[in-house]
Amino acid sequence: MFENKGGEKIVDEHRQGEIFEVIGNTSKARRVYIESYGCQMNFNDSEIVAAILDQHGYQPTGDLEKSDLILVNTCSIRDNAEQNIRKRLTIYNKAKKSNPSVVVGVLGCMAERLKDELLAEKMVDIVVGPDAYRSLPQLIEQAQHGNKGINVLLSKEELYDDIQPVRIDSNGVSAFITIMRGCNNMCSFCVVPFTRGRERSRSSYSIIAEAIELFEKGYREVTLLGQNVDSYFWTNPEDNSVVSFARLLSLVADISPMLRVRFATSHPKDITDEVINTIAKYPNICKYIHLPVQSGSTRLLDLMKRTYDQEWYLERINKIYSVIPGVAISSDIIAGFCTETEEDHQETLKIIREVKYSMSYMFYYSERPRTYAERNLKDDVPIEVKKRRLNEIIQLQNEVSLQHNLADVGKTFEVLIEGDSKKSNEFHKGRTTQNKMVIFPKNGSFSKGDYVFVEITDANSATLKGHIVN
Ligand code: SF4
Repeated sequence: MFENKGGEKIVDEHRQGEIFEVIGNTSKARRVYIESYGCQMNFNDSEIVAAILDQHGYQPTGDLEKSDLILVNTCSIRDNAEQNIRKRLTIYNKAKKSNPSVVVGVLGCMAERLKDELLAEKMVDIVVGPDAYRSLPQLIEQAQHGNKGINVLLSKEELYDDIQPVRIDSNGVSAFITIMRGCNNMCSFCVVPFTRGRERSRSSYSIIAEAIELFEKGYREVTLLGQNVDSYFWTNPEDNSVVSFARLLSLVADISPMLRVRFATSHPKDITDEVINTIAKYPNICKYIHLPVQSGSTRLLDLMKRTYDQEWYLERINKIYSVIPGVAISSDIIAGFCTETEEDHQETLKIIREVKYSMSYMFYYSERPRTYAERNLKDDVPIEVKKRRLNEIIQLQNEVSLQHNLADVGKTFEVLIEGDSKKSNEFHKGRTTQNKMVIFPKNGSFSKGDYVFVEITDANSATLKGHIVN
């Protein structure tokens, strides 16, 4: 998953409030403004929502003031994510005051979690959970007639696998493909099993068809998404053959050597030797694994119900490093979980040093309603201690990331060009297979979607710099 990513995904697994603009297909389109928060799965869900609404005449817009429909796809993974979204709802309601016919809706994990509360607070007109997006057009129509609507039913089957996502906010090079939904794990801090329901895997036929279509449209990288991709498991009803995650990876990688394959998120208890060997075997399966540790302390891992200990985690790390040369590993880390002592905290710092993560998503613990931790454990680490430990974790990770990147100086990497650098259109930006961003000057011969070889000449803790050598 995008652990700790409302599914904890990532992108930055928790990009904040990006606005999507896409082209609709109707001449008399109404306009929908969609803002998305949280994990990569939420961003891909917004693309599914855009596709459903496109069929009903809604054309996405980035202009809040000109929209007929305002939707916010929400994240519940941390309390401050929910607080941010409440602030956004206040702004949407100001827009609604100047145009009362505007419909405001909350989608995603917060919709699932707060349901009636959001309607009772009169902040929104519709509330729709992650498994109920097909009912959006009907609920919007009801709301336009003054009837507020809610559908937060969780499904054991919904996979949206017949819907072609509208690629919003797309660079035309990289795209997300959701391969499974829900999570059967019950990590004690995590709200995802309550907001996204039970795990189910999508047909590998439909995943491969989507990947082929993207490749034919010019995309050169797909990221296979799930809360816990290693437990992907699909049984073909025609012959009862089983497709595991390792098999799915190889099927997608076989589409073309020019198509890069990424995935997120892996769970340390589930990542198998078969998956690790498959990554090593295919040059186009990216040499990057997001393997969230959450804490370095075995005692805390037990309280977190992560079902592995420090020794198990380090064994998996050693296996990955020994089988996949040059692989980069990243993590999610929580500071100040219930009962965390200074010794536990030191264990987390130790594991950052030992694993040498290329980067991590780092947070301090915030208690989430309904979780095992909320019901059974005491959130007893004072906030100032949580913040201090988090700062120590961030500082150490920054040093480790810098060393990781400086070790690349002088080496040459194949880089997939994603577009212009944010700072200057005289520079390209692209990624290495290890998921590191590289900035390098254009030489006139290459453009977005091309692979180039780049020699790295400089680095900081977040970015590599270099020049094209082919
Ligand atoms: S329960 Fe655990 S594995 Fe599942 S989404 Fe939450 S943190 Fe990830």
